[in-house]
Amino acid sequence: MKVIDTIKELKSLLGECRAAGKSIGLVPTMGALHAGHASLVERAVKENDVVVVSVFVNPTQFNDKNDLEKYPRTLEADCALLEKVGAAVAFAPSVQEMYPVEDTRQFSFAPLDTVMEGACRPGHFNGVAQIVSKLFYAVEPDRAYFGEKDFQQLAIIREMVRQLSLPLEIVGCPIVRESDGLAMSSRNTLLSADERERALTISSALFASVDFAKVNTLEATKAFVEDIINDTTGLELEYYKIVDGDTLQEIKEWSDSDYAVGCIALFCGNVRLIDNIKYKGGE
Ligand code: AMP
Repeated sequence: MKVIDTIKELKSLLGECRAAGKSIGLVPTMGALHAGHASLVERAVKENDVVVVSVFVNPTQFNDKNDLEKYPRTLEADCALLEKVGAAVAFAPSVQEMYPVEDTRQFSFAPLDTVMEGACRPGHFNGVAQIVSKLFYAVEPDRAYFGEKDFQQLAIIREMVRQLSLPLEIVGCPIVRESDGLAMSSRNTLLSADERERALTISSALFASVDFAKVNTLEATKAFVEDIINDTTGLELEYYKIVDGDTLQEIKEWSDSDYAVGCIALFCGNVRLIDNIKYKGGE
């Protein structure tokens, strides 16, 4: 595996691959890699001749400076994992390399980006679109892989690709969870032992709500999850919304959509976590 830190070198290597008729897969990440990331890379390796994994903590998508500073950075371990799962290239550029000048582009994916994470983290999806579009221009992949863990991000990337008419396929991959159910996240490493235990309430509430939903209204199901989180010391709910999986807009009744997804964001201590669960559709 090659570790590359400039776009020039990356383009030169990938140009040779393309000339040799090889397909290229891209997995964008912010590093501190875990089995969730590995599942995306493994899928990309199966479906492409050459897989590039970008490892870049993108400053423009952090609306909280403190969150950016404490974000875990583990490049050496990341490269070891990527080598093991068969990536051909780890692309780990500097901030200067990706942003030689300020990126003043303003994206709008309304109404996809005005709700949930978009409402709670102003500018977040604009930063995501800035970096992901730059990565798409640098790599020109045939396919790019994103996790359903960041459900809203996946919908917005699909919309960005449509808006920019980019010739690539976006592949969504299922959430990988710890054996006890907690959705894997680079931020989990920031949890204390106590917080880690409390965080388990998130996935257990979501799983329990799927059974609850079978015999209860959407409103009652939403309240079911909200009450469990609100009753857990140390968890502070930011939102729980049951939305249409395509439009990301809230639905009021189960009959309002064939694709219903519950999306949650909360603080566990100082660590912000997100998760989601499908109630119907989306297979
Ligand atoms: P991040 O490094 O957190 O920006 O994530 C990079 C990519 O990995 C994104 O497409 C995420 O949705 C995906 N990802 C992160 N955690 C998981 C997980 N537990 N399961 C599946 N995909 C994930």
